Amino acid sequence: MSSVPPGTGWPGDPATPETPVARTAAQVRRLAHGLPLEELDARVSVCRACPRLVRWREDVADTKRAAYRQETYWGRPAPGWGSPTPRILVVGLAPAAHGANRTGRVFTGDRSGDWLFASLHRVGLARIATSTHADDGQELIGTRMVATVRCAPPQNKPTVVERDTCAPWIEAELGLLVEHVRVVVALGGYGWDAALRSYAAIGWDVVRPKPRFGHGAEARLVGGEREVLLLGCYHPSQQNTFTGRLTEPMLDSVLRRAADAARLSG
Ligand code: SF4
Repeated sequence: MSSVPPGTGWPGDPATPETPVARTAAQVRRLAHGLPLEELDARVSVCRACPRLVRWREDVADTKRAAYRQETYWGRPAPGWGSPTPRILVVGLAPAAHGANRTGRVFTGDRSGDWLFASLHRVGLARIATSTHADDGQELIGTRMVATVRCAPPQNKPTVVERDTCAPWIEAELGLLVEHVRVVVALGGYGWDAALRSYAAIGWDVVRPKPRFGHGAEARLVGGEREVLLLGCYHPSQQNTFTGRLTEPMLDSVLRRAADAARLSG
């Protein structure tokens, strides 16, 4: 089983051979706090705390999909990516086995990412309409994307233990971004719950009863003097886009609302 060794020239690799590696849930908790964003990204990108996910991501990187046989797969966790001072945070579920697990960049190189980046571009939040590999020139505008669970899981289904093991990474990232973020776009119910849990974990008031996820659902979260708009959006998975449950206008409408609320439109 294999993955790209840290510090070997992969575009955007935040880690070096000296980056500390978390191998247990306790080590994730210890290594996730008190860091600048670049070091947090680096530590996420070498994490090995979930044995099942480490095996799976590296196994996929070895066996590959036929269409990508000539490519080297990243085979490591996908850290957050985009603006380091975002007004909009997009929260997804986990990297795709042949998407971010191949390209090393969240939502890059798979059909969900095709939909998402095309829409982000249409509403003015991404420089170009495609996201194919880590040095394709793509750039997010005032926006950052994160996965709740940072390793590709089998069947896109992390266990509760894996989700909780990974939680300190997203919580630490949110802690670093919180002064900038005005809008959170939650992709699917998983992203919605993760956003609520993560804000609660950093001490914000989480609305009770818990606001219900839906496409276009909105909730306001409050932390001291700060307020954030949480927006629900159906996940642009093929399950949703093939069936017409999520259409391009529906996706554009939520992302445009995010851009407007964050004053990033136009
Ligand atoms: S899912 Fe998260 S905690 Fe588990 S190995 Fe991947 S990065 Fe580490």
